Amino acid sequence: MTIHFASIRARLILAFSVLLGLLLAVAAVSLQRLEVLTATTQEIVNYQARRVFMAQSMNLHAQAAAIDLLKLLQTPERDQRVPLYAAMDEEMAASAKAVHDLAQTGLAADLQSYIGQVTDLQQRYATLLQETVELLEIEGPTKARTHFEDRTHKVLNTLLFESRALETHLQQMMQSRLEQLRESATQATHLVVLLALCALVAGTGLAWAVARGIVLPLQKAVSIAKVIASGDYRQDVPNGRRDEVGALLRALRVMRDSISNREEKILRLAYIDPLTDLPNRTRFMELFDARVSNASGALMLLNVDRFAPINNALGYKVGDHLLCQVALRITRSAGESSLVARLWGDKFAIMLAGVDQLTAADKVQQILAAVRAPMTITGQRLDIDASVGVTLYPQDGTEITTLLRHVNVAMTVAKHRQDSMVFVSELDNEPDHQQLSLLGEMRDALVQGEFIIYYQPKLNLKQNKVTAVEALIRWRHPVKGLIPPMQFIPFAEQTGFIREITPWVLRQVIEDAADWRHSGISPVVSVNLSTRDLLNHGLVEDIQRLLMQSGMSAEQLCLEITESALMDEPELALRHLNELSAFGLKLSIDDYGTGQSSLAYVKTLPVDELKIDRTFVTAVDVTPRNAAIVRSTILLCRELGLSVVAEGAETAEELAWLKSNQCDFVQGYGVAKPMPLTDFIPWVQKFNHS
Ligand code: C2E
Ligand code: MG
Ligand code: MG
Repeated sequence: MTIHFASIRARLILAFSVLLGLLLAVAAVSLQRLEVLTATTQEIVNYQARRVFMAQSMNLHAQAAAIDLLKLLQTPERDQRVPLYAAMDEEMAASAKAVHDLAQTGLAADLQSYIGQVTDLQQRYATLLQETVELLEIEGPTKARTHFEDRTHKVLNTLLFESRALETHLQQMMQSRLEQLRESATQATHLVVLLALCALVAGTGLAWAVARGIVLPLQKAVSIAKVIASGDYRQDVPNGRRDEVGALLRALRVMRDSISNREEKILRLAYIDPLTDLPNRTRFMELFDARVSNASGALMLLNVDRFAPINNALGYKVGDHLLCQVALRITRSAGESSLVARLWGDKFAIMLAGVDQLTAADKVQQILAAVRAPMTITGQRLDIDASVGVTLYPQDGTEITTLLRHVNVAMTVAKHRQDSMVFVSELDNEPDHQQLSLLGEMRDALVQGEFIIYYQPKLNLKQNKVTAVEALIRWRHPVKGLIPPMQFIPFAEQTGFIREITPWVLRQVIEDAADWRHSGISPVVSVNLSTRDLLNHGLVEDIQRLLMQSGMSAEQLCLEITESALMDEPELALRHLNELSAFGLKLSIDDYGTGQSSLAYVKTLPVDELKIDRTFVTAVDVTPRNAAIVRSTILLCRELGLSVVAEGAETAEELAWLKSNQCDFVQGYGVAKPMPLTDFIPWVQKFNHS
């Protein structure tokens, strides 16, 4: 087990065990040495000192006995000597006892023999002392003193010398023991200091190693966590450690991966269209903004034609499948350098960098060709088409929101015109797309009363009288002047604001109708409805209520609907049309001929009138093809019991042609241009009475 891979717990246990071991060693050594010291001290106190004391005692008693003897020799009266004998015997006995005790203290062999010598000398001295006493008592002091000086005194001197030598020897022995003791104490001190130093060094080393093994990887983990927190998930997290730091790093890696996954999911949810896997509107706008500022290219908006009816008729599954197929076809044909996104519903945006108008047009044709290729979904063959709006940047603008708005207009115009593609630059002759900014002002305009209705007469050719009229909205803008409906109605439809405009138009028209009734005229008035209106059940109820409140008869009101409005949700539209028709309202198909429905289809609808679009009426007198279409439409309408209106007749020749071909009504500049109510009433009064 290398220290590198040992767990932090194991490393700490190891470190503290070493330190604890060293401390225990210090304590054990100290205790042992202390015990030795105590034992040695005790020995010195118990034996050495006692031996020295005994040797001294033996010496002192021998000397005291000699002094007693000298006193005896100088004491002439016998009575006075008796107590001195007793004292001398006592001293001799004490000296002998001291020697005996000393011999019992377990001395070494050399000292035992030394003691033996001293004991011999002591016995000889005791014998000589006895002889000296006997001479004193028997022969008198002179002889005794001579004996003492010749023999006893010499032995006493030898005894004193030897016993002092013994005492000195014992003292030296004690000194050497003390010396040993001091040396052992010094050694113990050194050992304890050494062990303590070792513990200190080992402790420092282990603390450093453990800290290094823990703190450095932890610091590294902290810096990795910071990098991950900053959003960089490519940050490498070291692998391989098996300790707690390794577990922390593994947890960090798991955390990094799951955050990255979660963020990817969130980004996907926020940026990717889940149906087609294409970028969504937000992502597209971001990517467009991120392109190089001075880059040029084309931005296209493709809308699948008649998607809603397909979706409704065949179900959402087929609709979804269709959108996926379209997305795939667009992506493939647009090429790798393009950016394709699904903005919403059936609208796709395509950005092509570095292309000019010609290349963009070519590309759109390629994309359309791909989209138009027949498609089979759940066994059903579908022929789909699309309309494309194209804008070029930076020529038409650089700001994505504006570009998308403009390209949406171009796409809407393409749809209306049944053109496959319309460039924003072509819109200059169309209603000024710049005025799209008016969109935001529409709500205020309604409150401020800036909308106004113009009336365009419908001339009844049979009676040569104006018996009907179409209400056409205008916006009297305080700055931009009179704005025609094509510049704001399509966008009111897109934004849903039309839900507020149509009821206002209806109220205004019903109010105006009351005015002209007072003036003695009562034409049937037509109001244009948009697709959304037709799908809004609330509007049907609104119309019924308004008519009942005003007292205007339902037959006096006609609603104009375009074919495309009927196509979006045919079933719902038909239900509402039936309700309106049952209530007595007239219904009219506007712009007939621009859509794709046949007359046979129109026959099934509860309509009363058909308005042939201006494109067929213009120059009808000189264009055989137009003439054929208009003539056959008039005939078929008669068969079906519908009245026919020719829209947009401008010239007297056109009017004459229409009259001679039994067209019922004509509406166009050739009769009158749309005009405000104040002009309309006198105009009709004058026309009908002329
Ligand atoms: P529309 O319903 O087909 O109305 C006929 C349009 O043709 C009117 O345009 C009218 O001024 C124009 N027009 C009539 N005779 C001639 C002619 O001889 N020559 C030419 N060049 N044009 C002629 P306007 O008023 O600009 O309206 C355009 C469209 O706006 C209308 O087409 C209608 O679809 C829509 N619109 C107008 N008012 C309303 C409204 O109140 N609600 C809704 N939803 N749409 C409306
Ligand atoms: Mg109309
Ligand atoms: Mg029309």
